[in-house]
Amino acid sequence: MTDRNQTLFERAKTLIPGGVNSPVRAFKAVGGTPRFVQRAQGAYFWDANDQRYIDYIGSWGPMILGHGHPAVLEAVQKAALDGFSFGAPTEREIELAEEIVKLVPSIEMVRLVSSGTEAGMSAIRLARGATGRKKIIKFEGCYHGHADALLVKAGSGLATFGNPTSAGVPPEVVQDTLVLEYNNVEQLEAAFAEHGAATACLMIEPIAGNMNFVRASVPFMTRCRELCTQHGALLVFDEVMTGCRVGLASAQGHYASLIPGFEPDMTVLGKVIGGGMPLAAFGGKRAVMEQLAPLGAVYQAGTLSGNPVATACGLATLRELQQPGFYEALSARTQSLVAGLTEAAHAAGIPFCGDSQGGMFGFFFFDQLPQNYATVMTTDGARFNKFYHGMLERGIYFAPALYEAGFVSSAHSAADIEATVAAAREVFAQL
Ligand SMILES: *Cc1c(COP(=O)(O)O)cnc(C)c1O
Repeated sequence: MTDRNQTLFERAKTLIPGGVNSPVRAFKAVGGTPRFVQRAQGAYFWDANDQRYIDYIGSWGPMILGHGHPAVLEAVQKAALDGFSFGAPTEREIELAEEIVKLVPSIEMVRLVSSGTEAGMSAIRLARGATGRKKIIKFEGCYHGHADALLVKAGSGLATFGNPTSAGVPPEVVQDTLVLEYNNVEQLEAAFAEHGAATACLMIEPIAGNMNFVRASVPFMTRCRELCTQHGALLVFDEVMTGCRVGLASAQGHYASLIPGFEPDMTVLGKVIGGGMPLAAFGGKRAVMEQLAPLGAVYQAGTLSGNPVATACGLATLRELQQPGFYEALSARTQSLVAGLTEAAHAAGIPFCGDSQGGMFGFFFFDQLPQNYATVMTTDGARFNKFYHGMLERGIYFAPALYEAGFVSSAHSAADIEATVAAAREVFAQL
């Protein structure tokens, strides 16, 4: 039998760098041939060989209702008939803004854009413009899109300014980006003591999903908030992944339930709020957001921003999420997956642990949950890769790298979870 995935990959590689339009799709971390997706429905997709997979990436988060949800499909089809893009305002942009402001109470005003990268980059520009300061703080292992100033890793030594992680980013572009260790309160305090007065914002993934799954501890998050307030820096939550994924009020709602009165100053959203269409947003307090053009001096724009088909898709998705009991059911299913995998691994004598919040999860071949990027990268990668391919052969599609989170949708049934755990039991027995 010819492997059409392989044929397509070879053809793609002659035209598209690495054969893919976003690097993680190329399977470089795990090796082997990427699956070219033909179609998807509910919790499944089918590859170019017509092999079915239970999908645990859901487009890296957006497909929280599963693929082809009838209400979303209908909204998108209807919107498409009315026109693809106008370059003039539409009522649906207001409706989507109203939904976002209602779901995420720290957001008073919001601007719609087309990707998480664009939203994060714009949020940084706005934070710098609003504070008149240059420096930004980020954490190792957090991903905020591929804007130049954010493609940076820690320099040598504690609390030094970073080095570019990509060719083509001049060192001077990242010289104002300070990269700290996630969950390290001491380092955070030292950084603010030295640079607090020059810091425009601290940007953080509150539950980091780009180093698998690592929660900000409550003491760490509390200090992030206190230090930003004390030094007049803006606390920017990058909730592109966690927004409406870990709960209706997003990760900030979760932290507000643990830290009384907790709120970030600005929030970056994407993924779920677009329901699978190119749509993202950034928002925050009115006084900050009003610094944006055309009202203020901070320039930001987009030909396709607030696209009518994308906003229809996002709105229909956000409305479905507000059905009573939606997140309770999603959380329970996700927890049963993580518990099932953990139990199966332990039964085979394999060090393993996992965690989840809402419909987002992570697991590690490691005996305890890592608290930062360096620890994530010490977990057993060789074992992960063997597990990954064993599961893939059995029709289970996890994220193809040990430093990525996974996602469960409302379309995943108890039977899908059981089938996944049964497959894992077979694979663990061979590791
Ligand atoms: C996916 C992601 C981004 C980037 O979004 P794109 O739409 O891929 O540009 C930014 N931040 C976080 C936390 C993400 O998970």
